[in-house]
Parts: sequence; structure tokens; C-alpha cells
Amino acid sequence: MRTLIRDVRAFDGVRAIASADILIDGDRIAEPDGRGADVELDGAGKTLLPGLIDAHTHTFDGSLARALTYGVTTELDMFCLPSNLRRQRKLAAERDDVADLRSAGVLATAPGGHPTGVMAAISTMLDNPEDAAGAFETIADPAQAASFVAARAAEGSDYLKIVLDDGSMAGTPVPTLGPDIATALVDAARTAGLRTIAHACTAGETALALDAGVDGLAHVWADTPPGDPAADALASRLADQGVFVVSTLAYFESIGGDSPDRLTNAAHVVGVLRRAGVPLLAGTDANPFAPRNGDGLHRELELLVRAGLSPLEALAAGTGVTARHFGLTDRGRIAPGLRADLVLVDGDPTRDIIASRAIADIWRRGVRQRGIRQSG
Ligand SMILES: [Zn+2]
Repeated sequence: MRTLIRDVRAFDGVRAIASADILIDGDRIAEPDGRGADVELDGAGKTLLPGLIDAHTHTFDGSLARALTYGVTTELDMFCLPSNLRRQRKLAAERDDVADLRSAGVLATAPGGHPTGVMAAISTMLDNPEDAAGAFETIADPAQAASFVAARAAEGSDYLKIVLDDGSMAGTPVPTLGPDIATALVDAARTAGLRTIAHACTAGETALALDAGVDGLAHVWADTPPGDPAADALASRLADQGVFVVSTLAYFESIGGDSPDRLTNAAHVVGVLRRAGVPLLAGTDANPFAPRNGDGLHRELELLVRAGLSPLEALAAGTGVTARHFGLTDRGRIAPGLRADLVLVDGDPTRDIIASRAIADIWRRGVRQRGIRQSG
């Protein structure tokens, strides 16, 4: 199957291109070769984007199908119990009407630590309660780090997520990993060839993650108000250590009923990180409740623009930047030879980010899919 999209504006994952002809040949993006195509589309007035990547999601039944209908072709899951993960991976491998998946699998947390309480609470609301209710391995001693990481590698985890959360953000103290365990986990993961991503919600927890040497953060911190110099100091540490940050502003918005200042703080931190040159990856913390898989990412892109990113920077955060920092070398950009995960939208999201919602077409691994168009 060959599909030619003619005269289309494109965002290639890094920069905007005024007009191009893009060929989809089988499951790959190809250079137009002058030979015929089975389908030809007129790209006038439209913009072609790489399939969107959500850098922080949670996967339950229906999540991957829902994500794809909004043009999110890859989800980076940040905690999934083994039996659920096996089922979701099989789905992503066998079908083209669901988003592709990478996952941390079982995250590293202290016995009784976050997200034990959250999982117990949501399990009662799921079709398959065992997808959240099951017991999972925790870690209480640095000497267990190597075997913990080996078990994750054996389960097929694509990266290691490390929880540094003493409950102060949520207002309920919970056990958390000590600095010695965090450091031992990062070292063991590096030896095993896995990236490390820390869950930290406060500036203090973020500093602990940096001390441990993680590669990235699963959230911005949300406890420094605008004008607090602590945010600038932490941002320059992140920049110096080359650590990337997944934004999750949509998550802070969704919990904002109790404390709208968290979104204000988190959005301000995004602006500080941008000015410091810290790589920003668009992620939502999507789950079956709020924000949701798929449309949550479009909201995230809008919140990133509101926080000071240009529309181009926001689109890069939702495509090329995330692919680069997670080693997804076959996607996140539009270039010959890459996997044909593509989204065609009406209008120009490189100027007005709201247009990312105006989905006209989606291809997943070269197979055309039905999308959901939102008015914004
Ligand atoms: Zn999460």
C-alpha cells in the first residue's frame, strides 16, 4: 500500500516545512519516487505531524485504543503490573488500531509507598480490578537493587521508574525510598542498560533524584511559587546534569480542584526549565479517569504553550524530543525510513496549537485509522 500526501505543510519533529510531498510506503515513510500511489491526498490547508508521543501514561483496558483515536501513536507507560502489561503489549504488537507502548513495568517504591494507596483506590473502579489491586515487589534495602532491576529487565521493562515521594504533596505522609536505595537503583539500572525516571513532586524530592543521578523526571515539581529562586537553582542543576523533564501539567490541572496553585506553580516551573535549556517532554499522567489517554495530550500541548513554549516547541515536546530522550530512533520524526506513524490535521498547529485537535487522518505503522476530531 502506497499513499502520497501532496503539497502539505509539515512539522518533522524538529522544525516546520512550508510544503512537501510525503510518501507512505507500507509501514515506512519514504522519499517520493515518481511512481504511482494507491491513494493520493491533497494536503492543502493541512499539516502533517509525526504520531504524537505521550511521555507519561498509565495503561488499562481501552487506554491504547482511545489514545490512538486522538493521534497519540505511542504511549510511555510509567507503571503497569506484569499480567496487564503482557496483555497490553500483545495488543500493541498485533493490532494497528491501538497506540504502541513502552513501559516501566513495576516501579521501584518503598513498602507501603506511593502509589500503593492510589492503586487500591482505583482498582474498585476498573473492569479488571486485579490490574491495579495486585501486590507488587517493593524495595527496602540498597542490597536488593541489583535483583530488583534484574527482575524488571526479565519482565521486559523498557526503563526503570523510581518513586521519591514522602506524601508531602498529597498531604498524607507515606514511606519513601532513602537516598542510598535511589542511588543503588540508578547504578543497577545503568549497568543493566535501562534509563531511570524519577517520580518526584516537590523541589526537595527533585533534588534527591538529582543526587541519585537519574536520567529524567516524570513530573515537574509543583511546590515552588512564581518568583521562588529555588526553582531557578534547581533548573540550572537539571541543565548541568542533562536531565529531561516530563511536564504533566494536565495532571496538575486535573487535581487542581483542591489546590489550583499547583498548576500555577508547575506551569511557572515549566517556564523556568525552558529558559534554563532543560529538555521538556510532553506527558500527561493519563489514566482511566483524568486526564484521559489521547485527548489529555492535546490539553498538555495547550498548557505548555500557555506556560511559555512556542507552538513549535510544544509539538517537539510531543514528538521528536521525547523520541530522542527515550531512544525511540524509529519514530517521533518525519523522515524516510522511519515508521509511518503520522497525524494529518486541518490548519496550522505550528502557529496555533489548538489545531492539533483538528484531526483529519491518522496512520499507525502505515495503516490508516479513524480519528476523533475535537473542536478545541
Ligand atoms: Zn503516573
